[in-house]
Amino acid sequence: MSRARVLVMNSALGPLDYRVPHGMVVEPGSVVVAPLGPRQLLGIVWEPERMPSDAEVGDNRLRNLMGVLPVPPLADPLRRLIEWTADYYLAPPAAVARMALASTSALEGAKLVTEYRATGEVPPRLTPQREQALERIGIHQGLIRELATIGGVSDAVVRGLVKAGAFEAVEVDIDAPFPLPDPAHGVPALSADQRAAAAALVRDVEAEAFQPTLLDGVTGSGKTEVYFEAIAAAIRAGKQSLVLLPEIALTEPFLKRFAARFGCAPVAWHSGLRQSQRRRAWRQIAEGQALVTVGARSSLFLPYRDLGLIVVDEAHETSFKQEEGVHYHARDVAVMRGKFEGCPVILASATPAIETRQQVANGRYAELKLPGRWGAAEMPAIQPIDLIAEPPERGRWIAPRLVTAIEETLERKEQVLLFLNRRGYAPLTLCRTCGHRFQCPNCTSWMVEHRLTRRLACHHCGHVEPIPRACPECGAENTLVPVGPGVERIADEVKLLFPEAKVAVVTSDTIWSPAKAAEFVARMEAHDIDIIVGTQLVTKGYHFPNLTLVGVIDADLGLEGGDLRASERTFQQIMQVAGRAGRGAKPGHVYLQTHSPNAAVMRALVTGDADAFYAAETESRREAGAPPFGRFAAIVVSSEDLNAAQDTAKAIGRAAPEIEAMHVYGPAPAPLAMLRGRHRFRLLVHARRALDVQDVIRDWLGRLDWPSKVRVVVDVDPYSF
Ligand code: ADP
Ligand code: ZN
Repeated sequence: MSRARVLVMNSALGPLDYRVPHGMVVEPGSVVVAPLGPRQLLGIVWEPERMPSDAEVGDNRLRNLMGVLPVPPLADPLRRLIEWTADYYLAPPAAVARMALASTSALEGAKLVTEYRATGEVPPRLTPQREQALERIGIHQGLIRELATIGGVSDAVVRGLVKAGAFEAVEVDIDAPFPLPDPAHGVPALSADQRAAAAALVRDVEAEAFQPTLLDGVTGSGKTEVYFEAIAAAIRAGKQSLVLLPEIALTEPFLKRFAARFGCAPVAWHSGLRQSQRRRAWRQIAEGQALVTVGARSSLFLPYRDLGLIVVDEAHETSFKQEEGVHYHARDVAVMRGKFEGCPVILASATPAIETRQQVANGRYAELKLPGRWGAAEMPAIQPIDLIAEPPERGRWIAPRLVTAIEETLERKEQVLLFLNRRGYAPLTLCRTCGHRFQCPNCTSWMVEHRLTRRLACHHCGHVEPIPRACPECGAENTLVPVGPGVERIADEVKLLFPEAKVAVVTSDTIWSPAKAAEFVARMEAHDIDIIVGTQLVTKGYHFPNLTLVGVIDADLGLEGGDLRASERTFQQIMQVAGRAGRGAKPGHVYLQTHSPNAAVMRALVTGDADAFYAAETESRREAGAPPFGRFAAIVVSSEDLNAAQDTAKAIGRAAPEIEAMHVYGPAPAPLAMLRGRHRFRLLVHARRALDVQDVIRDWLGRLDWPSKVRVVVDVDPYSF
């Protein structure tokens, strides 16, 4: 009798036991098909001693496993990572394991997938639906379902277009290997600093042992070229590398640079991939054929066969923190994956997080520094503009000194970036007559006016509605007034001031795909844009040598709300955006519009004394017992039923264990008291570093029950509070 413990892909269940039928061979990590009630689910075979079951079933009641997929079993280090992540972030193991299997469809047996693409033929009968589909789908290729989604039409419309000859079938081979990057292709001449850092990293790769390293260098210092040498070493050793990037928009410039260095593109992994691309990438990664993967945070859980290096680029980025489903921090999970795989992990950043700096101070992470910019480029000087002493004209947002600087920059035929981290036209819209404010029906947040799309949008749940002509409260017509600036409003002001200039708004509304990012880069390089007005999306990864002026419209914005990381985040964000200026031979200038030029963070930005700023921030964290010196966990209780959510939150609060090393605050309404139609309450757990707070919470919540309409989510090391 052979039994197997299987982690089935259902987050509500723990591991289950099955019978392995005669002739079937499984081992830990095997991906199997298991029956569950009337359904079949994918599952992963696990060592029973590492995944205790809470319901032992006798041999005679076991059901048979139905099959083993013809893919390599998930290797030991990945299984350890799944266990660790589930444990640390208090998540169901199946929810974590699902990220490793990516999607069941990634594993289906067939080697060929039939996709469709446009032939250029116009069908004889052109209905409005067909016209829309053809226009939106353009040159995209994909499954019928994928094309229908892109086209915003039903599957039937796309099938009709196939019949009419407007689309043709293309067979895609899932087994087609990826091109192999060539470590000797575009070898750069490194500066002395770069050479020293690269040599240390190459040694780490060759040592094939766990070693986290902070690669700390100002923006434009050439960190990418340095870690490329570590990747080259991994390729030479026949090992795989993973590069994590914070934003999908960043991948485009990265892919180009990678190709210049290694002669071909790396394998990309992100949520925008088509099914055939996912399947091909997953297989080749599992087989070890795909040597370099560049991906979003979910690529951390892919089944690399032999990982030799992990790089987390822009490692300070808060978008590495996943805020839905399994709440994990990709930077921290990356370090753990490196530990289990026994390979080096490089965290690259010009503005490392305090947590990371502290690991260096503790001696747990090594540090490599690139002190200056590469080549002749100099770091730009940052000049404050005190908005109280030098206010913009009435109804405007750009102060006279910045207007003059823009004018001079345009005269020199150089490019300008105006930074404001606020999408849309105005953050708040109200009725001039009665003062009515437009609020999202699903969330505790204001609707944001977007003039480009003529909509009011909620930035939390995505709810949109047309801009009403009349106030829904008092009925007055044409009475809505925008309050405060968003990027679209700044763009209007710029067009008014410089009617000849070519202005581009760059936000997640305008750059929502790698193709859009590529288009933006091409337009910048062709000097088809004089002035960018953008959000944090433009602060990252781009390298435009002709961009010499950066204006920060509202440097105080990030300090609002005053959470634990507000100053640090403001410092990082402005350093990053400032780092876009003067990256080539021409010097850069940065202006900082602020109401509080004397705030510590503004002074640090102007003097450039990052070390003093970090030292003071670190000290205040230490005094408060805040991370990395103490720990937080948030318990968020939500339900569409306000009373149910509140009652559960209170019951959890009452059941809180009395432990000296821990303090529980709340419950109180969560910072977004309503989100997507659910009322939210939060308890904040503050614990000393030494306490195993996960264990305490597991035990505490494990003793309680709540109605099924209530959801309780634990966010370990939370970011948004
Ligand atoms: P960082 O990532 O540190 O901000 P980058 O890696 O983007 O800096 O480098 C800044 C610019 O300098 C890029 O255009 C890059 O191609 C160039 N650069 C850096 N090092 C070299 C080198 N050794 N040879 C040629 N160009 C380099
Ligand atoms: Zn909303």
